[in-house]
Amino acid sequence: MIKTRFAPSPTGRLHVGNIRIALINWLFAKKHGGHFLLRFDDTDTDRSEKVFEDGIVQDLLWLGLTFDETAYQSRRFDRYEAIRQHLIATGRLYPCYETGEGLALKRKILLSQGKPPLYDRAALSLTPDQKAAFEAEGRQPHWRFLLNHTPIAWHDKGRGPVHFEGQHLSDPVLFRANGVPVYSLASVVDDIDFGISHVIRGEDHVVNTASQIQLCEAIGHAHPTYWHIPLLVDAKGGELSKRLGSLSIASLRDEGFESIAITALLSRLGSSLPIVPMECLDAVLGAFDDTAYSRATPRFDSDELRHLNARILHTMPFDAVKDRLMALVGPDVDEAFWLAVRPNLVFLSDAVGWWTMARGEVTPLVAEDDREFLKNAAATLPPQPWDHNTWGTWTKGLSDTTGRKGKALFLPLRRALTGQDSGPDMPALLPLMTHHQVRDRLLVEKYG
Ligand code: GLU
Repeated sequence: MIKTRFAPSPTGRLHVGNIRIALINWLFAKKHGGHFLLRFDDTDTDRSEKVFEDGIVQDLLWLGLTFDETAYQSRRFDRYEAIRQHLIATGRLYPCYETGEGLALKRKILLSQGKPPLYDRAALSLTPDQKAAFEAEGRQPHWRFLLNHTPIAWHDKGRGPVHFEGQHLSDPVLFRANGVPVYSLASVVDDIDFGISHVIRGEDHVVNTASQIQLCEAIGHAHPTYWHIPLLVDAKGGELSKRLGSLSIASLRDEGFESIAITALLSRLGSSLPIVPMECLDAVLGAFDDTAYSRATPRFDSDELRHLNARILHTMPFDAVKDRLMALVGPDVDEAFWLAVRPNLVFLSDAVGWWTMARGEVTPLVAEDDREFLKNAAATLPPQPWDHNTWGTWTKGLSDTTGRKGKALFLPLRRALTGQDSGPDMPALLPLMTHHQVRDRLLVEKYG
């Protein structure tokens, strides 16, 4: 059974970088008929907040990334404590009494000697008396995992064969002095307990994976399959910081982006497949190919998202937007309106302006030289009902009688009727207006 998880810390809102990881986890699970777990990595109870938890759930659901199960690390401290006891009993966890400053100094010295800043395992040679003395001083130990100095190798679904040497890694701290497990321990225990088959995450975790593999073994369990994905960078190649406000899903939603534009784009970034408009998340899932991702660094460009958003709206069926459109402009909105204006939208909310143009007030733009021509147009305006052919018949007649052609014929009409130089196709737009409205706009006394 395929089971993936998305494991955010509820210390901020999700942005395009971490939602891309969530999306690939979701797509991979769904593609294989598997399960998708949402796990809150909230062992840091000082920084984790309920409001961020709620925000993360809201963002995932808005994008359609439903989860089959939710887990909270903060509710599993007993389990981590049991593992701590097991690791101590099997000689894989040892207490360390260094202070933060002491460790920083050791690192500085090693670096100044041109050596890698590895922990020197000094705590392993402390005598029971020395430990007792530290504790009598009130110092609580933090706990490190004793890595085996052996090769660590795995086949990464994204990176192929990966190889580390245990002796080139620092023994990782698994429990802080206050007894709280760090992410690495809790994550491995949870991945095992929840039966995670594939750990799909950013490639900033590759080094963690090396020690996590030994930790799985120490707990007595085979490690999951790992798929490390290159992290998104911005359009200029700069790093996206972990929680980038302007690229948060919440702010993109508030700006008016369609959720499908975000998922369609993010599913293709960093893959060999083209970025194309998709109608719904099911289509994204149907076209998902987990073998298409490359090791190249994917770039996120807001302009590309904007462009895709527009292209998606341009072909979106009325049924898919009806409810939201009604909420924006009112219950009278119909398919004819939608079909007329959708080619001109970047965001759905742009429809509001066109609705006002079609049904409400417009300030006609009329040049003095066109006044006679527009009077003529008003006089020859065909009676309603109007359809897609009305515009052609009307303007053909006007052309025959006035000799005007092309821009000289069409632009004054468009500017009078819409108050703008460009916009939706006039043959589709005209039938949205009433005879009365059109006459008024053609014969307006006060010109805008
Ligand atoms: N909470 C971790 C993070 O946000 C999860 C990493 C993982 O997927 O294991 O980086």
